Amino acid sequence: MTRGVVYAEPDAAPAVEELTVEPPGPREVLVRVLACGLCHSDLHVVETKGWGMRFPILLGHEGAGVVEEVGSEVTSVASGDRVVVAWRAPCGDCPQCRRGDPRRCSSQLRAKRRLHRAADGALLTPMLRCGTFAGHAVVHEACAVKVPEELPVEQAALLACGFSTGAGAALWATPVREGSSVAVIGCGGVGLAVVQGALLAGAERIFAVDVAPDKLEHARALGATEVVDASDGDPVEAVRELAGGRGVEFAFSAIGAPSGLAQAIRMCAYAGTATLVGMPPPGAKLDVDLDADVFGPRITLAVTHGGDTIPQDDFPFLAEAALDGRLDLARFVTSTISLDEVPERLSRIGEGGEIRMVAVL
Ligand SMILES: [Zn+2]
Ligand SMILES: [Zn+2]
Repeated sequence: MTRGVVYAEPDAAPAVEELTVEPPGPREVLVRVLACGLCHSDLHVVETKGWGMRFPILLGHEGAGVVEEVGSEVTSVASGDRVVVAWRAPCGDCPQCRRGDPRRCSSQLRAKRRLHRAADGALLTPMLRCGTFAGHAVVHEACAVKVPEELPVEQAALLACGFSTGAGAALWATPVREGSSVAVIGCGGVGLAVVQGALLAGAERIFAVDVAPDKLEHARALGATEVVDASDGDPVEAVRELAGGRGVEFAFSAIGAPSGLAQAIRMCAYAGTATLVGMPPPGAKLDVDLDADVFGPRITLAVTHGGDTIPQDDFPFLAEAALDGRLDLARFVTSTISLDEVPERLSRIGEGGEIRMVAVL
């Protein structure tokens, strides 16, 4: 028996319930979850009435914990290992993996669904194959990524989604060149992680854009060299002017609203790269002048899912960078809560100056 946050049906509010857990299959790992961050995508599941997943849904996808049991064929981790639970891991078999581009794998490895509601035995669909707002999770071996135990587990959890998405956008999806200039639109948890990734990549100037003064303060503390309050006027003009009238070499939209990507495109210098990191709402349309804003200045448009990470390589790298002080992961954990508080706090993500709330189990 374990407990977890279940979203039972489209109009029900998520609630903590008793769950039962089957043992892991041959290539699966049973993880005792110790911490799980509250990510906007969990709220997205509720806002979209299931995000296309089968009900009942087990929420949570930014978790870390300790391996409790491994399947008969598992070799990469052992009982007692500290792991981060990745929501994606390259499959090795899809067209992208086969052509040597595993960062853009389109077919994620997954474990069988092995958790049930205790009340009626119904099989749960774990959010993004994780379901880590629960005492236990059963995940594919490739998604249980060993990280150093010295990294506090509530920080390690953030490597599973928000932090690696942002940092990965700047490090691996569209790698920021040393000495270059970068703009980041939206300074929530993901945008701030883009700032950190750009800093680690050696960006010389990092412009952070948001409308919330507390978020801009976080951005400054995390490595932004200049901040732009978008409520003070056109942020595109402000960034271009600060960047010597040329614009920036890399611009990231960490928000899903199409205006973020449009601004990112228009902030780019000649031959710059605009990267969409935030998940757009269904049906969102991009409004840019294709000639003046894209073709003329030869802008490259890119998209990243989760920072295009290869979890087995990149999570340990990010963990080491946090441990030796090159990344300030600790600053991202602005509060810790209990599992029982998750359903209520989920609806208030990003409010009150929070970067990341992390449930500690
Ligand atoms: Zn997430
Ligand atoms: Zn693949």
